[in-house]
Formats: sequence, structure tokens, C-alpha cells
Amino acid sequence: MAELIIKDKDFSGELLAFAQDLVRIQSYSGQEEPAARAIAAKMEALGYDEVRVDSCGSVLGRIGSGPVSLMFESHTDTVVVNDPHEWAYPPFSGEIADGFLWGRGSVDMKGALAASVYAPIIAQSRGALDGKTIYVSCSVFEEDCDGVATSNLLDEFNLRPDFAVICEPSGNTVAIGHKGKAQVVIQTHGVSAHGSAPEKGVNAVYEMAEIIQRVEQTNLNLPVLDGRKGTLVLSRISSKAVSLNAVPDECEIYLDRRLVIGENETTLQAEVEKIIGNKNATWEIDTIHRTAWTGKPITYHPLHAAWKIPADHHLTQSCVHAFEQVFGRAPQVFTFWDFGTNAVALVGRDIPCIGFGPGDSKLAHMRDEKCPVDQIVDACAFYARVIEQI
Ligand SMILES: [Zn+2]
Repeated sequence: MAELIIKDKDFSGELLAFAQDLVRIQSYSGQEEPAARAIAAKMEALGYDEVRVDSCGSVLGRIGSGPVSLMFESHTDTVVVNDPHEWAYPPFSGEIADGFLWGRGSVDMKGALAASVYAPIIAQSRGALDGKTIYVSCSVFEEDCDGVATSNLLDEFNLRPDFAVICEPSGNTVAIGHKGKAQVVIQTHGVSAHGSAPEKGVNAVYEMAEIIQRVEQTNLNLPVLDGRKGTLVLSRISSKAVSLNAVPDECEIYLDRRLVIGENETTLQAEVEKIIGNKNATWEIDTIHRTAWTGKPITYHPLHAAWKIPADHHLTQSCVHAFEQVFGRAPQVFTFWDFGTNAVALVGRDIPCIGFGPGDSKLAHMRDEKCPVDQIVDACAFYARVIEQI
């Protein structure tokens, strides 16, 4: 495990105590206020030059004011816990046992967030902040609305960092990109008729039946592009009829489509048009409405392309060198996340992104979520070295 030394004092214990405090503060999406206040207070206490909260309730800390700017991006919210009594340690206990920080949000992603808050302080103590501006963004509502809160923060504070590190869990490997996502709603339209005279109507569910078969086939036949394959999942189905004695005149399915490099809005459009084919059907990208803890409405259109940073990019090389300094060896594997992150807001603005964070992403959203404490400390050491290298 790395050491986080500032003036002969090791800050590892303080960092882990902060990560524990954050796990103990429940912060479901839309209810992040107490966590946001705790993060802002910690940034103030650590001597950040500026701490601001935006209209959605995301926190932005800044240290330094040099010409080269780097942002660390984490989200404050977590998914809910439905089974608190089934957990080995209560989900909001923030227990440290067997080398792990246990609890909801430990992996996704309060361990990483805590590490990102301390990293600029470590870098500053080494004189590595000269000529640099470091932003630490702790955004709300990522779980439901990738990128929306981060976009709000960038726009509201008129920020355009030169580089960004997404601190989502990667098992402390360098993540060089992630898949894109589209959430699509398809509706078929029929004609209502009395249940005793179905021949007078058109059953929207029967119209949908063939579309469903095509969805399944499309998923099986998705092309391999850039060494990866997308996915297509039918995740919900519903229908409407005027009564249970009537022919349904509307049927709706929800599709979760994960996109790889080479797939985009145009290819998606062609794919869905082909799925609908000759059926009396319409489709659209979903619109998701939420409300931030500040009361501000959040609107999300789930359509993002995949992204990948080149191996020879300055940010990638900075991360490789930082990795070598912390772990004493070159990175052996690079991660490509299957899931989406707030990177979509940054890459959408042509801001180069890379990922790195403690913990196994497969434990996110699960019972007994836990994050190795040595990875939290090492991630902080890594972030501090990235600041030095950039
Ligand atoms: Zn996350």
C-alpha cells in the first residue's frame, strides 16, 4: 500500500475515515444533500482555494490556478438498498474489516471520491501544483442520468478542463474508454375492439410479437467492431387496452442498447427502423425526468457514443507514468468499461478522459458491496502522481 505523506504525517488513516464517513451518509440519487455538505466541508477544511455547489447540488472544489487544468470526476449518489438485513455488515455502517471498506457506495464510488478529494493536497505538499489548476467534481444523480449533472456543472461554472480522470471503479487499472448507450422505446399501434369480436380490431401485442423476435435476432447478429460487440436487451414490456375485455391498441417495449466504437446515432437509427420494418410502430429515444435535491428538474436523453483514448495521448502516458511510480511496474492490463459514466459529458465536449478507481466494479449495486482499503489509498497516491505528471 502506498504512503500518503505530508510533512512527515501519513494521511492514509484520515482519508479512510473520510471514506467511512461518506458511506455512513445515505445518499440515494436525488437525496445527496447531506453528502454534498460533508464533501464541501471537507474541501474547506483541507484548504481548497474555492468550493462551490451548483444548481443541481453537485460540489466543485478547486486548488491552484495554473494554465494546465485537470478535473477528477466522481458521483456522490448511490443506488438504493432493498435488503439491509441480508448484508454481512449493515450497508451504512462504513465498517472496515478484513481489509475492506464495507457498505453501499464503498465501490461505487465513495472510496474513489474520498481519494480524489485528498489527492490534490498530497500533490500540493510536493510542490506539484505549480502551473496547474485541479478541479474535484462530486456530482449528483449519475446513477439515473449519465453526464447530466456534470454537464450542468461545466456549463454553470463555465469550465473546460484540459483533461479529466473518471474515478469510477476499475480495480486500480487504467480504463481507456467505455461503451456507449441508447435507451429506446418502441410502440406498436392497434385498433381497440370488444374482446368478443377481435376480428374488428388490430391487436397491438400481436404486432409487437414479431418485433420482439427481431430484437432477439438483432442482438445475436450484432457485429464485432474494434474488437468488441454491443448488446441489445429488451428490458420491459407493457400494453394498454380500454379494459380486460378489449383488444389492446398499444404495446410498448423498452430496449437497452450498449454501443461499441463505430456505432452511433445513424447506425442505431437504421437498426431500429429495420427492427420495426413493416409493422405499425413508432420509436424514440427515452426521456427521463428527475428532480435534484436542490429542486432543479433534471432531463436526460440516454444516447451516448462509446469513447476510447489513444495509447499515445498525453493523458494516457501521464497515467502510465503515474502508475509506474505508485506500483513500481508498468500497467499490465487496461480496462474498457462496459458501463456508462459521467465521462459522456466531458468527451461530448472534446475533453480527453481516462478512468481509474479503486474496487471491483462487479460489486457495485450489489449486496455486501465492499472496496479494498489499500486500493483506496493507492488510488489517492495515483491521482496525486497524475497531477504531478500532467
Ligand atoms: Zn458509479
